[in-house]
Amino acid sequence: MMPFPISEATPVRFAGPLPDACDVVVIGGGVIGVMTAWNLAERGLRVTLCEKGRIAGEQSSRNWGWIRQQGRDFGELPIMMESLRHWKSLSQEFGEALGFRQEGVMYLARTEAEMAGFEAWRAEARSFGVDTEMQSAGQVAERIAGAATPWKGGLFTASDARAEPWVAVPLLAEGAQARGAVIVENCAVRALDIAGGRVTGVVTEQGRIACDQVVLAGGAWSALFARAHGVAIPQLSVRATVMATEPLPQVFAGNAADDAFAFRRRADGGYTLAPGAAHDFFIGPDAFRNFGLYLPVLKKDFRSTKFHPAAPSHYPDAWGTPRRWAADATSPFERMRVLNPEPSARIVADVCQSFAACFPHLGAPKLKAAWAGMIDTMPDVVPVVDRVAALPGLVLATGMSGHGFGIGPGFGRVIADLVAGNDTGHDLHRFRLTRFTDGSKIAPGPSL
Ligand SMILES: Cc1cc2nc3c(=O)[nH]c(=O)nc-3n(C[C@H](O)[C@H](O)[C@H](O)COP(=O)(O)OP(=O)(O)OC[C@H]3O[C@@H](n4cnc5c(N)ncnc54)[C@H](O)[C@@H]3O)c2cc1C
Repeated sequence: MMPFPISEATPVRFAGPLPDACDVVVIGGGVIGVMTAWNLAERGLRVTLCEKGRIAGEQSSRNWGWIRQQGRDFGELPIMMESLRHWKSLSQEFGEALGFRQEGVMYLARTEAEMAGFEAWRAEARSFGVDTEMQSAGQVAERIAGAATPWKGGLFTASDARAEPWVAVPLLAEGAQARGAVIVENCAVRALDIAGGRVTGVVTEQGRIACDQVVLAGGAWSALFARAHGVAIPQLSVRATVMATEPLPQVFAGNAADDAFAFRRRADGGYTLAPGAAHDFFIGPDAFRNFGLYLPVLKKDFRSTKFHPAAPSHYPDAWGTPRRWAADATSPFERMRVLNPEPSARIVADVCQSFAACFPHLGAPKLKAAWAGMIDTMPDVVPVVDRVAALPGLVLATGMSGHGFGIGPGFGRVIADLVAGNDTGHDLHRFRLTRFTDGSKIAPGPSL
C-alpha cells in the first residue's frame, strides 16, 4: 500500500528564512493558515506562517476533498458560497493540478426521516440562493449507475465541487509565498510573547519574531496552545479513517454519501472512500473538561462514535501530553511534527464491504492506501473565528469541525480582513468564542 504522501520524511519546501519582525504571525500551515497568509500578503501586510511539520501535513491533506455548500450551518453558508467563487478563480490560476471539479454533491437517504431532514435544510437554504434540489429514487438511479442500495431519494447540489487536498494545499502555499508571505516549515511556535497584556510576538523553535497580531490556525493543536496562555477553547478531536482504491469505472461524476459510506472519484481514477459517520474518539483530560458542552452533539451522534480510553502518546489530548512547557525547551508541537493516526481496520473493512454491496458490478475494491486524520471539532460543530478580548493581538481561526477544506479560501479572506481591521463582509457572531461561556444554548449545526 502507498504511504501517505505528506510526512516528516517529505523534504522541506518552505524554509523561510524566519524574520526578526513582521506584522502578523500565522500559526499552522493547513488550508486555513495558508489562505489567511495569502490574503494578508495581498493586503500588503508582512506575514510569517510557521508550521511545526509540513504544509498540509495534517487534516488539510487527509480530508475527502469535498467543497460543499450542501448541509452547511446557515452561519457558514454565505462564507462557503464566497469560498466556492475563490476556488473557481484558484482553479484558473493553478489549472488542472488543483483537481478542482464542479460535479455536485449528493446525500442519499435510506429512510423517510432522512428525506425530511434533507428537505428541511433545502427549504431554509433556498433563501441564500443555493441550487440544492431534492431527488427522487428514480433521479438518483439516473445519476448513480448500477447501485444496488434501495435509496429513497437524495439531496443534490450541482454547483458543489471537490479538489485534491494533498496536491491543492501545498500549491496554495506556493501562491501565498508568491504574494509575499514568508512560510517556514519545521518551525513550531512554542509560545506567545506577551507584554503589557497584549501579544507582542511569538517564540518559535527557530527564534523569536516580534509582531502585533497572531492568528492561531493550529487545527487539532489550537486548544493545547491557547490554554497554555489562559484562553480556553472547548475543542476536541476525533479520528476519521479514509481510503483510496485503485482505478475503477465511474459510477457517479460527483461526491456522494449515505449513512454507511461516502465516495468520490479522484483525479487518478480511483475512489476516495470513507464511512458515512463512524469515527473514533480518544478520551483525555480535555474530554472530561468539556463533557457537558458536548452533550447535545453526543446525544445525536453517540452510536457512530467508538470510544477509546486513551490517545497514543504525544497526541494533543493524550494523558501524558504536558499542558505547560518552557518557551526555551522542546514543546509538545515539536514532539509530533505530523499527526498521522493509524486508520481503523474495522472501519476500512466495513466501508469496503458497503461499497462492494452497493456496486456489485465493480467487485471488491482493491485499496491503494488507507489513512486517518484527527478532525478538530467544537461542541456545536461550528468553527471559532474571533479576536480574543482578554488577549489583544490574538485571533482564533480554528475548530473547523470536519468541513474546513471547502470553506478555507473563504475563511482565509474573512480572517485576513478581521486582522487588518477591515469589514469582513459577513456576520461572524455565530463563530464567537464567548458562545461557550456567555450562557448561550449550544445549538449544533446540521450534521447532514
Ligand atoms: C478524514 C477527514 C475528512 C474530511 N473531509 C472534508 C471534506 O471533504 N471537506 C471539507 O471541507 N473538510 C473536510 N475535512 C475537514 C478539513 O480537512 C479541516 O477542517 C481543515 O483541513 C482544517 O484546516 P486547518 O488549517 O484548520 O487545520 P490543519 O489542516 O489541521 O492544519 C493545522 C496545522 O497547524 C500546525 N500546528 C499546530 N500547532 C502548531 C504550532 N504550535 N506551531 C506551528 N504549527 C502548528 C499543524 O502541524 C497543522 O499542519 C475532513 C477532515 C478529515 C480529517
